Amino acid sequence: MKQVSRVGGVILLSLLSQLALADDPSWSAPHAPYQITDNIYAVGTEGIGVYLITTPKGHILLDASTEQGANVVEANIKSLGFKLTDIKYLIENHAHSDHVGGLAQLKKSTGATIVASQGDRYSLEHGTLDSETNWEDKFTPVKVEKIIADGEKISVGGVQLQAVLTPGHTKGCTSWFMQSPDNGAVRKVAFVCSLTTAGNKLVNNKIYPQIADDFRNTFAKLKTQKADLLLIGHPDLANLEGKSIAKKNGKTDAFVDSTELQKFVKTFEDKFEKELMPQQNLKP
Ligand SMILES: [Zn+2]
Repeated sequence: MKQVSRVGGVILLSLLSQLALADDPSWSAPHAPYQITDNIYAVGTEGIGVYLITTPKGHILLDASTEQGANVVEANIKSLGFKLTDIKYLIENHAHSDHVGGLAQLKKSTGATIVASQGDRYSLEHGTLDSETNWEDKFTPVKVEKIIADGEKISVGGVQLQAVLTPGHTKGCTSWFMQSPDNGAVRKVAFVCSLTTAGNKLVNNKIYPQIADDFRNTFAKLKTQKADLLLIGHPDLANLEGKSIAKKNGKTDAFVDSTELQKFVKTFEDKFEKELMPQQNLKP
């Protein structure tokens, strides 16, 4: 998109980048799974992070990737030797088709309970956006079977995932935190929801009027959190591929970086404020 930025204005760039992103083939492309900690595996596509958290009493799957990507996720889980029907919960970061398009298929193949925050319920159950944006989204809707509140936990086989509501990118954007055993250590893992503005109208958004306040509260909230590992829905933004190669080559703590969460939050907070400014000037 760098070439476009030289010829286009901010609005055109924003629109084009969203359209281009909507067609990103890497989001559905196969990618081999890899182990992150003792009980966390990346099972997503080339361009989308999907995480399997395993326990002896059943598993939790975070996100699903695209509709076509669900086949990749299922094949990856099976290739690691885990059964789809042992998955107890399907949880999500946020209701955009690149992350939850495959949920309907995964619901059928796992029978697991679909968990989401109230803020994402409308989108998940209608297969569409719930905000004024410069793009459109469409995916097979799913029924939300359990609503998760801020601070609430999902527990399976001694593993607990705590939901931290971080709205903005979508109304129900949910980050998840857990303690995970890792080669003799215990790591705090953050699965942080996307923090980009994602083509959302930030001022006078008729469908999501409190969006700018939500973003600011989310950044403030995440600044109080600590984590040893950052795992996200777009793996390239945390160089997860490079870390997985380093781990395979013997660097056992390749995924561990206790500074990364705060750097990530700061980067997207700065971007948000930059994008908000011109939109505020347009305010009538
Ligand atoms: Zn998104």
